[in-house]
Amino acid sequence: MQQFDLVIHNATGLHARPARVFVDIAKQYQSTIQVRHGAKQANAKSLISLLQLGVSSGQLIHIDITGVDEESAALALVSAVREGLGEGPAEQVVTTPVVVAAGVSIMEAVVPAVSVGYTAATATLKPETARTIRGVAGAPGIAVGPIYQFKRSQVVINETSAGATLEQARLQAALESARQQLAELREQVLQRGGEDEAAIFEVHRDILSDPMLLDSAEMAIAEGESAARAWQAVINQQAAQMAKLPDPLLSERAADVRDAGERVLRLLTGNKLAPLPQSDIPVIVVAYDLTPSETVALDPQRVLGFCTAVGGPNAHTAILARALGLPAVVSAGTAILELAEGTPIILDGNSGIVEVEPPERIVAAAQLARQEEQARKLAAAERAHAPAITGDGHRVEVVANIGGLTDASQANRSGAEGVGLLRTEFLFLNRSEAPTEEEQFGLYKEIAQALDGKPVIVRTLDIGGDKPIPYLNLPAEENPFLGQRGIRLCLQHPELFRQQLRAILRASAFGKLRIMFPMVADEVEMRSARAMVEEERAALGLSPVEVGIMIEVPSAALMAEELAREADFFSIGTNDLTQYTLAMDRTNPTLATRADGLHPAVLRLIARTVEGAHRAGKWVGVCGELGSDAMAIPILLGLGIDELSVSTPAIPVVKAQIRSLTLADCKERAQQALKCATAAQVRAGG
Ligand code: PEP
Ligand code: MG
Repeated sequence: MQQFDLVIHNATGLHARPARVFVDIAKQYQSTIQVRHGAKQANAKSLISLLQLGVSSGQLIHIDITGVDEESAALALVSAVREGLGEGPAEQVVTTPVVVAAGVSIMEAVVPAVSVGYTAATATLKPETARTIRGVAGAPGIAVGPIYQFKRSQVVINETSAGATLEQARLQAALESARQQLAELREQVLQRGGEDEAAIFEVHRDILSDPMLLDSAEMAIAEGESAARAWQAVINQQAAQMAKLPDPLLSERAADVRDAGERVLRLLTGNKLAPLPQSDIPVIVVAYDLTPSETVALDPQRVLGFCTAVGGPNAHTAILARALGLPAVVSAGTAILELAEGTPIILDGNSGIVEVEPPERIVAAAQLARQEEQARKLAAAERAHAPAITGDGHRVEVVANIGGLTDASQANRSGAEGVGLLRTEFLFLNRSEAPTEEEQFGLYKEIAQALDGKPVIVRTLDIGGDKPIPYLNLPAEENPFLGQRGIRLCLQHPELFRQQLRAILRASAFGKLRIMFPMVADEVEMRSARAMVEEERAALGLSPVEVGIMIEVPSAALMAEELAREADFFSIGTNDLTQYTLAMDRTNPTLATRADGLHPAVLRLIARTVEGAHRAGKWVGVCGELGSDAMAIPILLGLGIDELSVSTPAIPVVKAQIRSLTLADCKERAQQALKCATAAQVRAGG
């Protein structure tokens, strides 16, 4: 038996994403793995039971492992926990400012706002209504219209048991159909949203395979319950327990257990989902809560936005609303449910405020603000495929940050002029062995082809730090963000690195691929890595590819002139550059508003990088989140940035903003910003 204690260091504790990584690793071993936290105990292979431990950041868990592969299981879990259980950039959707529309950041959308006004548009209005209901901003945007009170039809169970064997078979069949539906929903969200949001339905599929749920339901069936009653009781009990957890990130997952569970229950009983509004007048949906499935089903032609009495900004419903571009206010309280059907409201998803029966003047102003916002988006979308050229004739390339094949096709359809950053980690994480060269080659080739000959910058593996990779058996580190990560780690594991390089080089025959190394700190690293590219390329007898580096370590920015002699291009990773310049952990929610890439210190490093590169005749892009920040774009252009690599939905808006600027004004703005003392001053316009 292996027994040991581990401290969970993840900023938000053992919440859904790290718990899922933990469970996925545990499931790869035959041994029985129990996790204890205080008086509670969980099966490590059950996501639900693990979440119910309610482990917060800095807390201890005790692990008992018994079985044939107990030693390797222990090693894998220890290293995964120490390396942060998959917590990385994708988690920052709620902790780091990420611009989703001109001037509106996700941060503004998820932090309970105290300010009042229609921030997404030009008008700034004070509420002057008889009733203002304050909730929490769930997804940005303004909606004006009558409400539709959404009432979920209750599931009615009439069935009694037809015998344990038959009931077990019915449950299995319903589970299988539900998993099938979830796979389809995932596809739908992939098309409308993104890979991260679609993962919500993967979590639901995991829930439906959770051994704790299945075992409890089977036991109840064996004791004489019908499949429907057994399943309902188990779901209710587990969701109720989860809802009691003090950590909101964990308690919000109760909604996912209910949603996934109810899907099976409706299949078992033939009760269909509640009908959604059918009227021709678009409405704002008001509900006690909406499940992720119900949210995805909202037809954007008929639904202007939604407001829920409960729920939180981190719940999957709000995350989905942001991905689908649906304005939302959550946690508005039950007063919202007492409004009569058809009551006119203004829903402000930027500030979390609902105005009930607002005066005509306010409605008109809000409608104007909304129309302007929509007109801007529409105009931007219409010209998404046109180049981004400033008023005085300066062209800036706008390319996409992607994390997989689906993203690649979407980027190509949305006007991306190429891919500025392909994060290849998706191929390496959450698995028990490294992907083969063939597997990698196949994917890089498909991505190259999806971009129709446009350039694709493939960033080599950027793991270590916060991203666990159990099959490398990496030793635990005190400060993983300052340890073996990025290019350092690849140079330490040349076989892994060379395999990836060969796969990229081979795929480069099918498109225009470029190679980029992450976390380069000096020219020695750059030269060693580049030499390996050359050796592999020569051995394969292929044509040369361009090789660039990310500038995300302050030393690289300071040495840009020297590095520019070695590299074909630079791309500034402002997420890490900001973290390392300001010594502020990019994953720490309490530092989210202060770890601002518009800090003059970061801007001075960007300026120095551009100077060094341009002197050597090399181009510079920005692929961190700052590249889609509406406040930062003029400054970045003014500092001489040649290319912006942003998330796919931001491409049309970023291009539109560039067209509204002149390079001369941007240069002036950049010079002012460099003289500021703080990021706040830069944001205030100097
Ligand atoms: C960055 O650091 O800005 C960057 C783009 O890389 P990642 O977010 O993947 O670390
Ligand atoms: Mg980085």
